[in-house]
Amino acid sequence: MENALKDMIRQNGPVDVATFMGMAVAHYYATRDPFGARGDFTTAPEISQMFGEMVGVCLADAWMQMGAPASFDLIEAGPGRGTLMADILRATRHVPGFHAAMRIVLIETSPELRKAQAAALDGHAVVWCDHIGAVDGNTPVLFVGNEFLDALPIHQYVRSDGVWHERVVRLDEGGDLVFGTVPAPSFVPPVEGDFFEISPAREAFIDDLAHMIAARGGVGVLIDYGHDATAAGDTLQAVKNHRYADVLRDVGEADLTSHVDFGALAAVARGCVHVAGPVGQGDFLRRLGIDLRAARLGQEQEAQRLCVQMGTLFRVMGLCHDSAIKLAGFE
Ligand code: SAH
Repeated sequence: MENALKDMIRQNGPVDVATFMGMAVAHYYATRDPFGARGDFTTAPEISQMFGEMVGVCLADAWMQMGAPASFDLIEAGPGRGTLMADILRATRHVPGFHAAMRIVLIETSPELRKAQAAALDGHAVVWCDHIGAVDGNTPVLFVGNEFLDALPIHQYVRSDGVWHERVVRLDEGGDLVFGTVPAPSFVPPVEGDFFEISPAREAFIDDLAHMIAARGGVGVLIDYGHDATAAGDTLQAVKNHRYADVLRDVGEADLTSHVDFGALAAVARGCVHVAGPVGQGDFLRRLGIDLRAARLGQEQEAQRLCVQMGTLFRVMGLCHDSAIKLAGFE
């Protein structure tokens, strides 16, 4: 994959960070199951079943507030190993009518991870889609995505000598990948600073999701690490074997992410739905009752990790078609 990228740059010139990130992330997830102690990183659902259980409580509560519609789509974007969905399903098993009413839809591009998801959800009918635009239907929607948005590509802009430039990836004289810049005179920074990231891909996803929720009715819960207001700074990072790695080394072999700008995404969503939060993951899980569950399971340490270590950097944002519905965990 690194050679394919280098050939592309040799033939067509430098690529922007979004093109680079899109290629690297697609290759990375298409070729492995990266989760857990023997993989590259561990996500909240892989730390403890309690994470998915609390999300399940939030979604089932929203479904009941909606009047328990007799059919709905339970949609997850970027389901990884399928662990979060499996925990949601177990937590909602005894909610009368919930399972009978649901259709499970997974938005996933990686063939490798689709296999893992099929195994985790064995016994349930599942529909897979490549992107949100391919999800059909007109029933209400319960949507969840954990650490999905952070994998979608970003553009980076840097101001030098008073002029805005877009950051690109190019080749140096020795044929190695290095960062460069090209003038971007039309770039208008969202706030003060000399370095910015924007993500049209994330904004387009939220726009599609918000329109779907507005048209069909329902709610969405998005969990990711990031910030509530647009901030200046470089947050692109690579992680390999649970350690930070060089972004431009071993392209497609390390997990590549950046912080999610929830402020920008909330502004997009507010055009057509109500936005709850963002709130810290710790507050969200505690309001849903994770401490009681942790005591019951003897998983106090896991609860600490989810609510303290990951408690504030990870944010939870809710979307809802109806302001009368109060999403649990947000206040
Ligand atoms: N939610 C899971 C996995 C997070 S990793 C967890 O919490 O454990 C990111 C997930 O998003 C992977 O399943 C990856 O294959 C998927 N993904 C990445 N880019 C995608 C894209 N453009 N479209 C759909 N899925 C994508």
